[in-house]
Amino acid sequence: MDLTVEGKTYINGSFENCCLGIKNGKIAIVKKILKCDDHIDFGSKLVLPAGVDLHVHFRDPGMTHKEDFSTGSKAAAFGGLSCVFDMPNTVPQTTSVRSLSDKIISAGKKSFVDFGFYAGVAHDNLDELEKLAKKCNGFKIYLGDTTLALLFDKLNLKEVFKKISAMGKPVLFHAEDEECLIKNRSKEKNLGDHLHSRPSLCEEISIKDILESSKGVNTRVHICHVSSCEGMELLRNRPANISCGITPHHSLLSIEKDMGSSSFYKVNPPIRTSFDKETLFNSLKNGFVDVIESDHAPHTRDEKANVFNDAPSGVPGVETMYPLFLYLVKKDVLSFQRLISLLCTRPADIIGVPKGKIEVGRDADFIVVDLKDESRIKSDDLHSKCGWTPFEDWPAVFPSHVFVRGEKLIEDKEIQVSQGFGRFVGA
Ligand SMILES: [Zn+2]
Repeated sequence: MDLTVEGKTYINGSFENCCLGIKNGKIAIVKKILKCDDHIDFGSKLVLPAGVDLHVHFRDPGMTHKEDFSTGSKAAAFGGLSCVFDMPNTVPQTTSVRSLSDKIISAGKKSFVDFGFYAGVAHDNLDELEKLAKKCNGFKIYLGDTTLALLFDKLNLKEVFKKISAMGKPVLFHAEDEECLIKNRSKEKNLGDHLHSRPSLCEEISIKDILESSKGVNTRVHICHVSSCEGMELLRNRPANISCGITPHHSLLSIEKDMGSSSFYKVNPPIRTSFDKETLFNSLKNGFVDVIESDHAPHTRDEKANVFNDAPSGVPGVETMYPLFLYLVKKDVLSFQRLISLLCTRPADIIGVPKGKIEVGRDADFIVVDLKDESRIKSDDLHSKCGWTPFEDWPAVFPSHVFVRGEKLIEDKEIQVSQGFGRFVGA
């Protein structure tokens, strides 16, 4: 063994006092008593799988004043995540083999955690999808316009499903109907106006279209950031190949909660009413939802402080996601089983990486947590370049240690590796 780790470990749905034997970055053995020269005893602290985030925007290349792969992945590491998947709406967009390859090489030099990339599906790259599929971890389709989105016409959905289904890669969707968005668009002065500009009806129409045009398709289809109770309702009896995600901001925040006209909470799809928020949170709790995904979408304070109508949409969240929900588990609002499934195991299985679970054969990616170690989230303590959070002062439990492939990434809340440690998890 290269390393043995002892602690109260989450294995197969419950906690066991046991040891993990790690060899070549993998969990090689799980045993009651196990020791090698390099042994760490975490005592009664919890050893949990590290999280996997299916949805981040690290803004690299093209918008590195907001974030870059180094700062974004460092934030992910401090938030207890071992692997992140980055979206294609960068500059240039990730729609060609060339731009995808460049991104992989660049992130390989910068990333603190393991990473993968989605390729965008646009009208002019349909002939390149097969080549892209050999390198990317999945495809992203935007059915509604948002920050630098690659808008895709829903009329071509069936055709694109036919094409992609043979390639064996998941397809992820931003589900807001463009026609509906255009119809409801107006000048926005506050969060209420933003909500009216992007009503849940647009999400409903789009989810219906995806369900309809993916009939008979076996490929993995993932609906990102479901934001409304109507959207959730449509997905209740979805086929097994369709999964869905919810973000921390949609399930923990609602616009009635005294946000006034703060453009800092402007995001697409919008944060909705407390009724939507509660429905979404209950869906997380009851197992109707597959994953929690951050949709980490950083913009600088200056950009967000612009007049409401011109302020960009998006909120950061990659570092606070796991800690916020760990606190809710501590408070008995959510079970450990649901937490680990939503943040670790399901996302890893959906995207097809051997992570997200403490199990022989999987990557030795885990975090160490002391539930007594509670703190308040403070912008100044976070590592994203954007320097703010929609969860300022919220209680949270941050991990003290983070291991990726058996290497100590964070010890006593200090980073132990240099950038470039993270590896590409695709082909
Ligand atoms: Zn996104």
